[in-house]
Amino acid sequence: MALKLEADAEKPLRILVIVAHPDDIEFGAAGSVARWTDHGATVIYCIVTDGAAGSNDPNVNLADLVVQRQREQREAARIVGVEDVRFLGFADGTLEPTLDLRRQLTRVIRATKPDRVVIMDPTTILVENDQSDYINHPDHRASGEAALYAVFPSAETRPIFPELLSEGLEPHHVTELYLALTTKPNTAVDVTPYADRKIQALLQHRSQLDESVVDLVRGWDKATGHEAGVEYAEVFRVLRFPVNVPGIIQPEADEPMPT
Ligand SMILES: [Zn+2]
Repeated sequence: MALKLEADAEKPLRILVIVAHPDDIEFGAAGSVARWTDHGATVIYCIVTDGAAGSNDPNVNLADLVVQRQREQREAARIVGVEDVRFLGFADGTLEPTLDLRRQLTRVIRATKPDRVVIMDPTTILVENDQSDYINHPDHRASGEAALYAVFPSAETRPIFPELLSEGLEPHHVTELYLALTTKPNTAVDVTPYADRKIQALLQHRSQLDESVVDLVRGWDKATGHEAGVEYAEVFRVLRFPVNVPGIIQPEADEPMPT
């Protein structure tokens, strides 16, 4: 599939990014987030797990690690213009795409009413590339599958999760879905002006990585950029659902993001 460069949005978008772990966004999407916020978007991060599996050191206090990783994620978010970071607190490493997770993600979607939702591609199992092949983390797939079905059908279908209606959360139709960490990208985002901010954001995750990761990530984005005809790019598989569903009132573009 040919890669198309993303055109900047004509109105200020609301964007919700759902990932499994603190640092997932910084590897694959933080440059795009910087571009989107720079063009007026309000972006919210939803991190599904607590990040407590982020250390193999037997002496690490895991409760402290969770707090540290949340702080690192908030700092990374701020660098690319994101102030609202939500943590669902599921156990890191053993995530499953349960109905409970789907309900919680549906709650976040209905509460924040995003135009665009960014998730991890649940169909990615094996990734092959020049430097090193890898097995996609099952938490990534589980968060992606639950988020996919939260976007459709749960967020926009009134009778699903009726308990959310009693919380005042009306159905919401998402018009754009961006799949990150995908093996079938169709859209590249030019992150050339944001490449340094992306790296700065990534390096906030001090509990997980150090400067040695910089060349790797820059290398990925440069190779992707080459394919897209720019210096640095991030890629997504983008699906659009512009047709609204009867019975759903979309928020106005200038309506403030609910909290
Ligand atoms: Zn991860």
